[in-house]
Amino acid sequence: MNSEVRVRFAPSPTGYLHVGGARTALFNWLHARHCGGKLVLRIEDTDKARNSQEAVQVILDGMRWLGLNWDEGPEVGGAYGPYFQSEREEIYERYFQELKAGGHLYEDNGSWRFRSPREIVVVDDMICGRIEFDLSNPGTHPDITIRRPDGSWIFHFVNVVDDIEMKITHVIRGEDHLSNTPKHLELFKVLGRTPPRYGHIPLILNKDGSKMSKRDEGASITTYIEAGYVPEAVRNYLCMLGWSPKDNREKIDIEETIRIFELEKVNRRNAHFDLDKCFWINGQYLAQMSIERFRELSIPFLQKAGVVFGSNEALTPVLTIVKEKIKHLTEVPAWVSYFFTEDYAFDPEAKQKTLSPAHAADRLRELAGAFASTDPWDVAAIEACLKTTASRLGIKTGELVHPTRVAVSGRSVGPSLYHMLEVLGRDRTVARMRHTADSHCG
Ligand code: GLU
Repeated sequence: MNSEVRVRFAPSPTGYLHVGGARTALFNWLHARHCGGKLVLRIEDTDKARNSQEAVQVILDGMRWLGLNWDEGPEVGGAYGPYFQSEREEIYERYFQELKAGGHLYEDNGSWRFRSPREIVVVDDMICGRIEFDLSNPGTHPDITIRRPDGSWIFHFVNVVDDIEMKITHVIRGEDHLSNTPKHLELFKVLGRTPPRYGHIPLILNKDGSKMSKRDEGASITTYIEAGYVPEAVRNYLCMLGWSPKDNREKIDIEETIRIFELEKVNRRNAHFDLDKCFWINGQYLAQMSIERFRELSIPFLQKAGVVFGSNEALTPVLTIVKEKIKHLTEVPAWVSYFFTEDYAFDPEAKQKTLSPAHAADRLRELAGAFASTDPWDVAAIEACLKTTASRLGIKTGELVHPTRVAVSGRSVGPSLYHMLEVLGRDRTVARMRHTADSHCG
């Protein structure tokens, strides 16, 4: 007997990947990785009207962004394909004939229905526990349709056929499918196949307890990608929607999660979605991230914003001093772009406030002159020079710090000034201060 664990994520391509779907994919992936099994990605695209290549792409992109690799499925292949239901017509036809020959189907106004055996069906769920469903009453449990008059297939039937054909051992899916499961078990039974084990994951609700919908903030994985979240942080947050390491930790490394994840430990109560918490975990990941990973994540955002940063060697010191300020990766270009061009923009408000007073140009020239002979050029020397100059001019340190920052970056916010000037280099600092004194003051 083949004891390999085989799970599947079986999304319908609706045009977006919902956090609930992503969490289902994640729990399947965790179970597969924990058990050394296989994750199958199957696209349930029998509803032709709603399907498109783009809608599938959103799912693939979202899973890849979250680092959820699949062992079989679109773009990967595998022994049990095709992995799009729209391409599995012959298989469904074969099972349809089998059911029909066994007398389990009947025609009803052009559609085909499955004749329920009308028994009590027990779902022994790995998360929800043992549940008995009494299907004896056709009034409350009418026979399900498996094929429409136009020949197209209904979800229940193709879902079961594919789970059989793809040798799925564990079905991990949203609790909204729990009530479908007894019907699926009936199909397994009449087809004479052993059903998989089921694990239904509780729903994700909004903070206020309402059901999370497509329109709720944070519902679509694409918004996290576009808003510059850290993928491993979002994945960590999704783990916490129904699972936890039971020791109050919220940030937990994925390798450890894989090691200790157990489907039976998934919470039976509904999870409550909290975007603030996700944001907080994202901040934790950013704070503890290596500079190499931060650079890797930042580069696509820099490229998209058209920031020409030259080499990794040039970028690394800049990223090192801004990293602690970044909350979303989308902010990176604005925080670093002025390091890489002499043609940086001036924030009008900052310029008005710090560069318009009559004395601004003279003070900048004075400090630039002192900087010009500062050697070595490091944080301590820069700070000492600025403070000495301030006291010589009889002004407070801040009265030099703010105009200098705006002069060299065009912005009133940024990393620590002394670090920023060190990275910028002495010559560029002096040149920028002088140019600003000549062209942007008064
Ligand atoms: N296509 C179904 C859905 O997206 C799959 C359900 C299942 O995992 O069995 O809800």
